[in-house]
Amino acid sequence: MLNSSPTARDCIDMLGKLVSFDTTSRNSNLALIEFVREELAAIGVESRLTFNEDRSKANLWATMGPQDVGGVVLSGHTDVVPVDGQDWSSDPFELHEREGRLFARGTCDMKGFVACSLAHAKAMVDADLKTPLHFAFSYDEEVGCTGVKGLIEDMRDNLPAPLAVIVGEPTSMQIVGAHKGGHSYMTTVYGLDGHSSAPDLGANAIFYAARILGFIENLSIRLKQTSDPDNGFTPHYTTVDCGTIEGGTAQNIIPASCQFGWGFRNIPGDDTDLLAQEVFDFVEAEIEPHLKAVSPSCGVTHELRHHLPAMIPDEQSPAETLLRHLTGLNQSGRVAYGTEAARFQTAGVPGVIFGPGSIKQAHLPDEYIDVSQMEACHDFMLKLTNWAANNSEIA
Ligand SMILES: [Zn+2]
Repeated sequence: MLNSSPTARDCIDMLGKLVSFDTTSRNSNLALIEFVREELAAIGVESRLTFNEDRSKANLWATMGPQDVGGVVLSGHTDVVPVDGQDWSSDPFELHEREGRLFARGTCDMKGFVACSLAHAKAMVDADLKTPLHFAFSYDEEVGCTGVKGLIEDMRDNLPAPLAVIVGEPTSMQIVGAHKGGHSYMTTVYGLDGHSSAPDLGANAIFYAARILGFIENLSIRLKQTSDPDNGFTPHYTTVDCGTIEGGTAQNIIPASCQFGWGFRNIPGDDTDLLAQEVFDFVEAEIEPHLKAVSPSCGVTHELRHHLPAMIPDEQSPAETLLRHLTGLNQSGRVAYGTEAARFQTAGVPGVIFGPGSIKQAHLPDEYIDVSQMEACHDFMLKLTNWAANNSEIA
């Protein structure tokens, strides 16, 4: 039961409840969402749910304070990465405290922030807020920040536009104002099989795939050379990767197909659609004519698998202004991983990434969050609530 003057211990107890739901992205998150909905309903706060297609997962939106104006969004994802194949010292779905650390899957990424937010809900309600505080708890973040799209559409179409969003990914309570984007494809080369002793009678899909990958790798060299080394990102340029490749069946058969997954992690300003187009143009001009000459059935396809825009830095944004005011921090960082902040930014809501725990502990076995980080986030929620109770705009 939520109380009106929560302590850091209440936040930790709430974290214990949240980690007990196995919300690995492949699972339904409805049990956790229903738990949150009931906790909020018990203090008179209604939740709006938006579902995935088969209604096995949901986002939750709730507003503490006035309903008719936009406020500050506290955004967190409810899903976690799998524990498969990882060696854990204790049950990953049970909170274990050892030497000032709280262990369980999702403690730092990012149920710690969700727990602090939720533990403070009644305090927010009782504070008679001038600026509302909204919860935006999503699904399917760990698989491409896709779940939150439905919540953002609902927000944009049906709710007053928020002033700012705080995405509580683990930043060790430092302000992060920008991140790289992600854009990936699966490319398949269709060749023609035959006996490997007669290569001219077939089309070796692996050789053609290798040429395409060579072109992609050269692109990465150019991007590295042409980016500003002082832009705050590590590394400072758009990176290119190829993570999987599969092709061929036997040493003595010309491989008929080869498929590889590749993509970009781009700095703001590098247009990944244009970069990808360079690859497609190369394939069309330099690869496909050779394949088609062997057989019209040969060719190359590219399937878009994932696209998340970069988060563009804006140090004057209401989100940064508010966070600098509340924390006393006077700088904001850049990170190389993607977050839902980019999706909010695309929808016109300025944001920052700011939350408890370190990204270094995310996704690993024995994931943990320091008790001191939960305490710091608890303090932040007190300050935010106090600010929202006394201010109706960000200045
Ligand atoms: Zn996360």
